[in-house]
Amino acid sequence: MKQICLLGATGSIGGSTLDLLGRHPDKYQLHSVAAQRDDVGLAQICEAFRPQFAVLTDDVAAQRLHAHLRAAGIATRVESGAAAIESLAAHADVDTVVAAIVGAAGLGPTLAAAHAGKRILLANKEALVCAGALLMQAVEQGGAQLLPIDSEHNAIFQSLDSHSRPPRGVRRLWLTASGGPFRGWAREQLQQVTVAQACAHPNWQMGPKISVDSATLMNKGLEVIEAHFLFGVATSDIRVLLHPQSAVHSLVEYVDGSFLAQLGCADMRIPIAHALAWPERIESGAPVLDLAMLSRLDFAEPDRDAFPCLGLAYAAIETGGTAPAILNAANEVAVAAFLNGSIGFLDIANTVNATLNSIPLSSAVSLAAVMAADGYARAHAQGHIDARRRS
Ligand code: MG
Repeated sequence: MKQICLLGATGSIGGSTLDLLGRHPDKYQLHSVAAQRDDVGLAQICEAFRPQFAVLTDDVAAQRLHAHLRAAGIATRVESGAAAIESLAAHADVDTVVAAIVGAAGLGPTLAAAHAGKRILLANKEALVCAGALLMQAVEQGGAQLLPIDSEHNAIFQSLDSHSRPPRGVRRLWLTASGGPFRGWAREQLQQVTVAQACAHPNWQMGPKISVDSATLMNKGLEVIEAHFLFGVATSDIRVLLHPQSAVHSLVEYVDGSFLAQLGCADMRIPIAHALAWPERIESGAPVLDLAMLSRLDFAEPDRDAFPCLGLAYAAIETGGTAPAILNAANEVAVAAFLNGSIGFLDIANTVNATLNSIPLSSAVSLAAVMAADGYARAHAQGHIDARRRS
């Protein structure tokens, strides 16, 4: 029985993971769960799976969870705070950590799991985007196994002959992108788009932040940065292809001209099942991809003028140091402002660009340098947004 620690249990990756654990109770046991503040969601999970530990970042939410579980006669031990989540990720009884906490809060626990030599199923983008060099170093030193469950990176992992960094015999990595709800739109058309339009992703059911990131193509830009660190491939050899059907999840091009790709339905249980069981395979419950019904697969170059976030991400990784952390933090602030109606869709890229251009970069790769750059970028991006609203 593999003991699973699920960080970000109440989100959509958490839900898909729990579905898989429920299908394979003979193979996996939920050791512990963590979430930021959804005590009601965590209580339901504790009732169904009876983990040993449940941690919430938020102290008050943790007290509510504790009271609820005691009243229900469930023995799960409740703790709170970021440090408690890091200890869970490094717990001696845990084999596999599913790192699906969204945002910078996922960074510390992912690093802790790497240092403790766990198998890490990585969904949190920030760990690689903001602290990619640090994380890869921690994975190597701790003897951890990092398995990506982002569908594109998982597809590349599955399509690689070898897992050396950089991979042998590879010419390029091709990340596919659905293009989001505004694929094919010109820049002028994007001026007035609404939050509801931006969140209506054609192929995947996701939270609002990542839905907006898909609509701006920032999500793909962050994925280029992730792929760079994860596979040790230069960003000049990582390309993005629009592929509206989301059936080919990414491809590896080899020097002999071969392309290997992974295909499947747009269902996150597929990459999670792969990473849970690797190098074995388990059933995921995902619907079968019907290629005859699909009948065609389309591919196109992304429009970098209409979707400047993609270029900003490439520029950030070329600049190096803390630039990707600044890009990520400014984008989080800008997307939140777009979601609450403070700025328009095109202002997201403007805010990120202005922040990248006006913050002094550090080449340091310590966690402290990353966190400092993150804080600085958030303050700057918010200032940029407030100044625009006043003008
Ligand atoms: Mg993805």
